[in-house]
Amino acid sequence: QKPTAIITGASSGLGLNAANALAQSGDWHVIMACRDFAKAERAAQKLGMPKGSYTVMHLDLASLESVRQFVQNFKNSGRRLDALVANAAVYLPTAKEPTFTADGFELSVGTNHLGHFLLVNLLLEDLKNSPKNNPAGAPRCIIVGSITGNTNTLAGNVPPKADLGDLRGLTTGLDGRNSSMINGGEFDGAKAYKDSKVCNMLTMRQLHQRFHDSTGVTFASLYPGCIAETGLFRNHIGLFRTLFPPFQKFITKGYVSEAEAGRRLAQVVSDPSLNKSGVYWSWDNDKSSLWFDSVDGALENRVSEEVSDDKKGSKLWDVSVKLHNPT
Ligand code: NDP
Repeated sequence: QKPTAIITGASSGLGLNAANALAQSGDWHVIMACRDFAKAERAAQKLGMPKGSYTVMHLDLASLESVRQFVQNFKNSGRRLDALVANAAVYLPTAKEPTFTADGFELSVGTNHLGHFLLVNLLLEDLKNSPKNNPAGAPRCIIVGSITGNTNTLAGNVPPKADLGDLRGLTTGLDGRNSSMINGGEFDGAKAYKDSKVCNMLTMRQLHQRFHDSTGVTFASLYPGCIAETGLFRNHIGLFRTLFPPFQKFITKGYVSEAEAGRRLAQVVSDPSLNKSGVYWSWDNDKSSLWFDSVDGALENRVSEEVSDDKKGSKLWDVSVKLHNPT
């Protein structure tokens, strides 16, 4: 059996292009874990992903029941698990009111963080049991982060900034009765997305601290660059969608194509030299950063103060576990 990588949200953008890069390499079998089965199949065919190099499996991260069902279906498939990539996300910057997952959590944090949190926890044992003879050399678990977690960049400082506060909104269920925001504040769709990305990176660091030594799994996060044309911005206003790609290309120089971003994510999955655990990888489009350690073009980036707050990460872990196991 070929080494297997599960990629969530592989029906478009970064996930699709990473799935394509891994499938085309011939070294991997890719499980495309998607909520829209037909869309994923069409996208795979459009990119010419070889038949037999991928399997589409249903996963809706906005439903914990669906996450559990996906894990059961995966286990029933008898496949080994070598890499798990938590990539899917929703971004609702123009939403005036919160919307909620099947379990009643605000949709961005519910999907991007809580759905993935359960998925990773349920598949950790399978990763640990990987035969380890995959191209990366060891099993990997990757949670896609974002620039919002590096306050050492301009984009990471654009308001509304991520801020989980003391997690009081999350602690009370994130169901809108007290608050639909992690910090207990007023709903703000752009901030909810950024908060969810901070949760993704805090979770990766917690996984590393709690399980790297005992499981041998390499945990990592990454910022692939600004992929300004993906579906992520589908809910933004038209003018933004028109101006954002050239702005990123010519002004910030943070722009990266979907194909290149996909190669970067595939590199974090498969490149044996990116074997350090607990790292947040980035790429310098200008190749001008002198203050990072670089491995095969990937840079070990610094994270923001909030993302490096391991006490907060630990509290986030405990609250997230409780939300998945209501008494
Ligand atoms: P896309 O919108 O193109 O891809 C998001 C994927 O997530 C889609 O496949 C979507 O499925 C899937 N998805 C959304 N909700 C669910 C759900 N409930 N269950 C299962 N799948 C779901 O965006 P990107 O490719 O840009 O985003 C991918 C990752 O990259 C995200 O984690 C994002 O935060 C990160 N990122 C993106 C950047 C960018 O500039 N675009 C920059 C930094 C990070 P469907 O096709 O059915 O909608």
